[in-house]
Amino acid sequence: MQHKMYIHNTLSRRKELFEPLNEPFVGLYVCGPTVYGDAHLGHARPAITFDILVRWLRHNGYRVRYVRNITDVGHLEHDADDGEDKIAKKARLEQLEPMEVVQHFTIRYHDAMRALNVLPPSIEPRASGHIIEQMEYVQRILDNGYAYESEGSVYFDVERYNKDHRYGILSGRNIEDIIENTRELDGQSDKRRSVDFALWKKASPEHIMRWHSKWSDGFPGWHLECSAMGQKYLGEKFDIHGGGMDLIFPHHECEIAQSVASNGHQAVRYWMHNNMITINGQKMGKSLGNFITLDEFFTGSHKLISQAYSPMTIRFFILQAHYRSTADFSDEALSASQKGLSRLFEAYERLQRLSTGTTTTVEMKDWDSLCEEAMNDDLNTPIVIAHLFDAAKVINTVHDGKGSLSQNDIDRLKAVFSTYLSDILGLKTEQGDSKYMESYRRAIDLILNLRLEAKQNKNWALSDKIRDELASYGFVVKDTKEGFEWSL
Ligand code: ZN
Repeated sequence: MQHKMYIHNTLSRRKELFEPLNEPFVGLYVCGPTVYGDAHLGHARPAITFDILVRWLRHNGYRVRYVRNITDVGHLEHDADDGEDKIAKKARLEQLEPMEVVQHFTIRYHDAMRALNVLPPSIEPRASGHIIEQMEYVQRILDNGYAYESEGSVYFDVERYNKDHRYGILSGRNIEDIIENTRELDGQSDKRRSVDFALWKKASPEHIMRWHSKWSDGFPGWHLECSAMGQKYLGEKFDIHGGGMDLIFPHHECEIAQSVASNGHQAVRYWMHNNMITINGQKMGKSLGNFITLDEFFTGSHKLISQAYSPMTIRFFILQAHYRSTADFSDEALSASQKGLSRLFEAYERLQRLSTGTTTTVEMKDWDSLCEEAMNDDLNTPIVIAHLFDAAKVINTVHDGKGSLSQNDIDRLKAVFSTYLSDILGLKTEQGDSKYMESYRRAIDLILNLRLEAKQNKNWALSDKIRDELASYGFVVKDTKEGFEWSL
């Protein structure tokens, strides 16, 4: 393939040329949500980051199999091996079947993703639907001597693993520090060492999510599901594994150890991690009172925000930061994004109606190549957005009658906006995406041209009827020397 793209690999800590194992196929695994509560900004950022990656790869001709899981079992608080499963807890408190909790929040998560124009993954496997694969995975690790059984639970033997391989290669931590940091958490656990993590956990009598296994009635450890489902759908080796930076340790570190312990080699070629979101400079957290769900943004119902922000404003805001930088949400920053985005949409709309000049008298840049270059440089969306603003300025200059554009240059600009604003950044106006908008505008223009004809034929009744009817739908029509202007 001609396409050359560089992505930052967390494992090597540098940008690398992206070379898929089996071109043009790309296997991508992204850690999905744990579905025990409403989707929030922490869900939106990885979803949008990897949505951009998938869109860009597909645009360049790759065939991407995008797997994003639903964690519906085994995700334990603070990674303590004996905490209560969050889904089970919610189910117990509200007297629901755990799958009712899962279903409810999965639907809400999907609704939020659709609103953010995040394309659905190719496969969306659930941990609870892959218990057998996870048991088989545990067995292989046991067979290879990197795990031990203890009172019905199975633990990964980190120290033993670290003798043959290196535990901590992704996070850059060394085992002594990890042991030092985990010692205090060690209670009356059945683990040999605090650093070991659960592959299979025996369920306590009140634990409602449980499956029968040769070790005990219990449930799989959280880190295991992604290793097992990644392998099932993408093979023993695949191209890209993504997720939020907070997952590097322990989750992804444990995934690497699991695949080496099970298969003798790592599964993933490139590890990609998006940075975190802060709110007014602070980490987001329930205890800090700054935990805002996506719905609260969309409706403006949280006390920290002064108005509702559309899903596209949230998406645009996230894309204005590079995915490896933090994105700090604040009311001011969001309203600036809202204005910026409507400036881009306005320019795109004006572009559709610009009259063609015989020559181009404004400075055109090769925005298509510039945007492409930025995307190939580790998905640099803020640079793409800067180029679009640059192009918007040229459009506005011509719109204000201070220059002209040839038909060829108008077409080039249309292609840049349609490709980068709509297809790659996935930004659409609230009425629909920009391509749809063009048809809609043409239909209104057609109606208003028929009204002009009616006026010329002195058919005042019809002309007034059209104007009044459109007004009742929210359109403002202004008669001008050249004909008409309208807005919604
Ligand atoms: Zn995962």
